Amino acid sequence: MLDIWLPTYAKLIDSVRNQPPENIVNMPVSCFITSSGGWDWSKIDPYVSTDVHNSIAAILPTINDRSDCLRWRNTRDGAFSIKSAYASLSVRNNTSGSVSCHRLHRKLTDNAMCPRCGREEETALHALRDCDSVADLWMRFLNPQRWNAFFSLDLCEWIEWNRRVHAGNDISENWQTTFGVAVWHIWKNRNLIVFENHIPNMQDLFFQILYMVKDTLLCKETMGNMISKSSKAFRMIGWKPPDREKVKCNVDGPVFKSTNTAGCGGVVRDASGNFIFSFGHRLGSCDIIWAELNGVLDGLELLWCKGFRSVTLECDSEEALELIKNGTADNHPCSGLVHCIRDCINRCWNVDLQHVYREANRAADLMAKLSHSFPEGLQSFDAPHAELGSILSFDLSGLLLPRLCVC
Ligand SMILES: [Zn+2]
Repeated sequence: MLDIWLPTYAKLIDSVRNQPPENIVNMPVSCFITSSGGWDWSKIDPYVSTDVHNSIAAILPTINDRSDCLRWRNTRDGAFSIKSAYASLSVRNNTSGSVSCHRLHRKLTDNAMCPRCGREEETALHALRDCDSVADLWMRFLNPQRWNAFFSLDLCEWIEWNRRVHAGNDISENWQTTFGVAVWHIWKNRNLIVFENHIPNMQDLFFQILYMVKDTLLCKETMGNMISKSSKAFRMIGWKPPDREKVKCNVDGPVFKSTNTAGCGGVVRDASGNFIFSFGHRLGSCDIIWAELNGVLDGLELLWCKGFRSVTLECDSEEALELIKNGTADNHPCSGLVHCIRDCINRCWNVDLQHVYREANRAADLMAKLSHSFPEGLQSFDAPHAELGSILSFDLSGLLLPRLCVC
């Protein structure tokens, strides 16, 4: 541990010119780094010899190691050394939960270990922040002064802190955008490893994040100019589990442009985010509103038939929800379908219909898209399709996606 980054100078005290005061000895190494990521020689040079200076200068503080977690330490024999505190910081945080364990419990995998490093159990924090190559990636975007806080917070604190604090360096001036984009890409990249055996290239990932941040900011600026007089803002959207005694059914009904046919589908989960069942229904040529309403009807009928009596149904079509709520004229092309849905809702059960943005409805969207290849008729499934795995895990993690919304 003593030799992590200065193997020749395990005992720096032997080379110091002046004994550093106690507060300096206990400072994290990130305090010896300038905001642009170089060594802050004004704080180091008063204590070390030229040789040690040159050895430290040979090390890139921002990229190659976990210097944020290294501390100057007085060892028991009085040696002035640098020690990795990373091991103590990486103590498993129970509140962060294990991503692979969630997947394990839901039979999506038989391996709870991190798919990147294969060395540690994959908690959400390990996957998104602490796995070595991911941590190195973060350090390229972070102001070194912020490393300590960034790598020591638990999951909830970490997300909240990154929403509030400007933690970026010169290449990541808009930290909130960089953070959101980076989390999304790290997660997407991790899913490519798990589901498509993709070999990760962190250098590519670094540039993907940089370019997407640039595009997002440009887009934000353009949109900002276009809508400067209306009140729109980016909101973070994610799937939320239903209340404890309820189940939630997400439904969707897209039209496939290539074949000009439509499908609908949905996914039902409980208050813990557990998968209960899914369904899909290949439809012929029809309007998107017809497909959306079919999704609602299929979802409700299946929930009723399977004995659920307290349900929330989420749909991303405001138009479909309006038709169901207000009814239609008899000559409306969807009047028969809307009538069936309203009859179904009026049975003796508790049905809550809600609008949801499509960022929170991705599981249903996927089932509707998969329905394209299903046989005729409504198909219901008691186990999730493999393709659904990454979306279920994402929803379960509580992570959010940005969306431009009217305030
Ligand atoms: Zn790992």
